Amino acid sequence: MGRRDVERFLMGGKDPGLNAYHPEKKIQYKDRMPEEHSAEYRLALSDLIKAAKVSEKKMAHSYRNFNVGCALFAYDEENNEYEVYNAGNWKYEPGTQEGNDQRCAERNTLDGATKDQCSVVVGMVIVCEQTQKDSTSGVNSTVLTPCSKCRKMLRESPLIKPDTIITMINPKPDRSVEDGGAGEEGYEEWIEEMTVAELLARHGEEYPTTKV
Ligand SMILES: [Zn+2]
Repeated sequence: MGRRDVERFLMGGKDPGLNAYHPEKKIQYKDRMPEEHSAEYRLALSDLIKAAKVSEKKMAHSYRNFNVGCALFAYDEENNEYEVYNAGNWKYEPGTQEGNDQRCAERNTLDGATKDQCSVVVGMVIVCEQTQKDSTSGVNSTVLTPCSKCRKMLRESPLIKPDTIITMINPKPDRSVEDGGAGEEGYEEWIEEMTVAELLARHGEEYPTTKV
């Protein structure tokens, strides 16, 4: 989608080509997060996108230039406030860092929220200028979606809810990606958004009905 489309989207407009988040969609899970959280996420979204982009540029380290930035928006019930955690991924050449070759940006941000004892992750923005076919599910996408290890983390973390929002942005989509539809002139940036439950479903996985 073009920059103008992104702005329109951020202002709450609807784009027919966008796999948008539908707050009215009822998800049959007991642990849905309160609706005011997603409204706060909307208000914070442009700042979160900026934070994720800065992380992708300044905090990510990847030996093969596969840089990912993430900004996570969490609610801290005890202090009744929202917190932002942003981080990049790191990926060293295999074998150069014993036992610690790689760490995803999503995990780095969630670690921060977990350490601070936040109660719920309202949403996260993931920015990457590249994309790849998911090695586990085989799903192709014009935006980078969380990898299988991160999806496992999303299923298991008590901070993640089925309606936690995942906003995925590719600021420089590869126009040759099949099924991407990004070939049109003027398409500068791709943004795709869905809930965790929808993300898992896309990869043929399920959000657990019970969490310990
Ligand atoms: Zn990952």
